[in-house]
Amino acid sequence: MIFKLGTRRYSPQRIFCIGKNYAEHIKELGGNAPGQPVVFMKPVTSLVPPGEIIQMPSHGNNLHHEVEVVVLIGKAGRDISESAAALHIAGLTLGLDLTLRDVQSDLKKKGHPWEMSKAFDHSAPCGYPVAFDGSIPLNNLSFECRVNGEVRQTGNTGEMMFSVSTLIHYLSGIWRLQQGDLIFTGTPAGVGPLKSGDRVTLHSDPLGTFEWSLA
Ligand code: ZN
Repeated sequence: MIFKLGTRRYSPQRIFCIGKNYAEHIKELGGNAPGQPVVFMKPVTSLVPPGEIIQMPSHGNNLHHEVEVVVLIGKAGRDISESAAALHIAGLTLGLDLTLRDVQSDLKKKGHPWEMSKAFDHSAPCGYPVAFDGSIPLNNLSFECRVNGEVRQTGNTGEMMFSVSTLIHYLSGIWRLQQGDLIFTGTPAGVGPLKSGDRVTLHSDPLGTFEWSLA
């Protein structure tokens, strides 16, 4: 998937994802708040552009929607300070961190990695980014997820346990962030199952509306 912002083109090589970043979502899954960001990755082959059909995975039974604000990195950097983090953001959009909840529960119990539950083909439907120019309130951005027209999740980035700037600081202390990297910043409460034929709509006033159907 290629992202265009003005005359610039970005082709992501990596997708970083943050788990457990909203207190109400941690509660609904019955977990504990982490002391540090929970980080996992998806391959870029899991991206699905808006309007395309999402194929249902066949190795699990409980596919959950997780709407998330997605950050597109525009400027590379290592050990980026929180105060400089915004300078590294090219754009913002919304995405779905699709999760096979039954497979994830099983993997968690065994203490195994999460990839089979979160990094399968089509697990990362992602909108087209809007340029981040400072007019978008990074820490007060409301967004929602609708399934077949019904609101299932609403969130605001102000509710994040680790803000976007903190996440960029934290990730860049481990990986040198590259132009085109995507960061899925975690999901608010309200996650729930999807079934074949469902239509999922992600919306935020400053970021737009993106929609997918499930095969
Ligand atoms: Zn998530």
